[in-house]
Amino acid sequence: MADQQDKSVIIQNFSDILKDRGMRKTPERIKILEKVLDFKKLFTVEELHQVMLDEAFPVSKSTLYNTVDVLIEIGWLRKTNIGESAVAYERIEQMAQIHLKCEHCGRIKLVKDTNFMAYMNARKFTAFTTSYYNLTVYGVCNDCARKIKQLKRKRNSNKK
Ligand SMILES: [Zn+2]
Repeated sequence: MADQQDKSVIIQNFSDILKDRGMRKTPERIKILEKVLDFKKLFTVEELHQVMLDEAFPVSKSTLYNTVDVLIEIGWLRKTNIGESAVAYERIEQMAQIHLKCEHCGRIKLVKDTNFMAYMNARKFTAFTTSYYNLTVYGVCNDCARKIKQLKRKRNSNKK
């Protein structure tokens, strides 16, 4: 299970992801993520709702659902059918996604790489048990690359 330090890294990643998607980083969404990280097995939205109420952090079901949807989309949660119409969620321990981080604007893009995931899932380290991993590739996003190119062109034309 993620310890406190890992948790803060995950929360920071999640904040970046929300920002990247133009979603507000609200205390509710962060609290939902924290509670999701605490579940060790399958949970339903009703259970998550109850946990939030127990923490005196009432949130609407729609906030719960849209936060859970983001977590599914980015591959941190998996949806499972547990009955006729009942749905439960499960945390994906291996947050096996490659983070592409732009060194200029700080934006993070998540990409899935099934070969990498298969390799990492099979990879065993001596005297160490992996909980999850997190790979960040640093570079320049297309938006920034374009801006840099324009700046250079501008600078060159000023010289003439
Ligand atoms: Zn950028």
